[in-house]
Amino acid sequence: MTGVISLLPEGRPGLLAPLLSGAWLSGGSEDLARYLAEGGYAPLPAPDRLLDRIAAAGLRGRGGAGFPAAVKIRAVRDAPGPPVVVANGEEGEPGSVKDRWLLRHRPHMVLDGLRLAAAMTGAERGCVYLSDARAERAVRRALAERPPELHIDVVRTEHAYVAGEETAVVRRIDGGPALPTAKPPRPFESGVGGAPTLVANVETLARVALTHSRPEAADDVAGAHLLTLAGARGAAALVEVPVGTHLKVLADLCGHGRAEAVLMGGLFGGLHGAGWTDLPLDHESLTAAGGALGCGALYFLHPEDCPVAVAGEATAYLAAQSARQCGVCVSGTGALAGTLTSVARGTANHDTTDQLHRWSRQLPGRGACGLLDAAARIVATLLAHFPDRVDAHRGSACPACADPAPEDGRRFRVPMP
Ligand code: SF4
Repeated sequence: MTGVISLLPEGRPGLLAPLLSGAWLSGGSEDLARYLAEGGYAPLPAPDRLLDRIAAAGLRGRGGAGFPAAVKIRAVRDAPGPPVVVANGEEGEPGSVKDRWLLRHRPHMVLDGLRLAAAMTGAERGCVYLSDARAERAVRRALAERPPELHIDVVRTEHAYVAGEETAVVRRIDGGPALPTAKPPRPFESGVGGAPTLVANVETLARVALTHSRPEAADDVAGAHLLTLAGARGAAALVEVPVGTHLKVLADLCGHGRAEAVLMGGLFGGLHGAGWTDLPLDHESLTAAGGALGCGALYFLHPEDCPVAVAGEATAYLAAQSARQCGVCVSGTGALAGTLTSVARGTANHDTTDQLHRWSRQLPGRGACGLLDAAARIVATLLAHFPDRVDAHRGSACPACADPAPEDGRRFRVPMP
């Protein structure tokens, strides 16, 4: 069962709360009249005023890297040539649903944010990039309800782990495959059709829109996060929480109170054990703990869940999702997944784990995108935080570890609420 929950204090503006009562909904999507009445699509601001407000509030991008939004917008604005702005709604992480949910239910808010991004950068052309059919219908309906000031294309892609990576987004919009390219150039230098391009996550754009309609609450808007919570046991939920909420509170929220580990940031932030419950949800704390908030998906492990099995399934999925463009990624993710299989089968020895240690140090940063880094971090954190659980597999197969681990990421998938 999947629910939608807001933990924001009463009266604080958020992305979920207005829709939870159902009053804002019209045909399953937000009602345009209500959105307008609450300050949506307000007259365009002086571009620098909104940009300065976003910078002062410290809004970070919500696609995964957590880069300061204002820095990215300024880089596009200051690059030579007429820019393009893209609302990126293709969430490749199997455990995340927030972006599809926003596009399905709050398309006006995302389009409002895209319009504001265009105003801040000087773009006259925009694009909504997505893979979900229901989200596409909602966006097209919203565009028909309120025709935008700028030209907006809707581009559909195949759902895949790397399809939302920003260079893959540009390549697909330009008519190619949704596969990453080597950087530089980054899209802000040369993106869609060679133009400087802002590729912004749809939650980031929704927060830009809310910052514009509720300027007095800019800090609260920038400090709240949409998260997808799940686990092998308990329920799943899409939640909106204030920054600083402890991970233990999030686990308790949907029946994972007994959890003793968490896979963080979708598949990007690694596995974390002892002490994770004390971590506050903020970019800096999670990074300092060796994790990453990434797309905001958290997968909780209970005592009876095997971290080796979870790591095995995650790396098998990543190996299967490799775009097979970089030799080191093809061989590296395959080797990590295959070696974890030998750990799970009970055939690993000290040499095997030494090899995993070496690879997890050597592989990060060597692929064109973050997929190889994600696989290496899962292995590094498994070895660092669960040495006893890894050792317990020596000499005998673990019943919890499927043989071979499924490659389809089914363990991490969350049904749409
Ligand atoms: S690192 Fe892997 S997934 Fe990323 S572009 Fe290279 S081959 Fe593709």
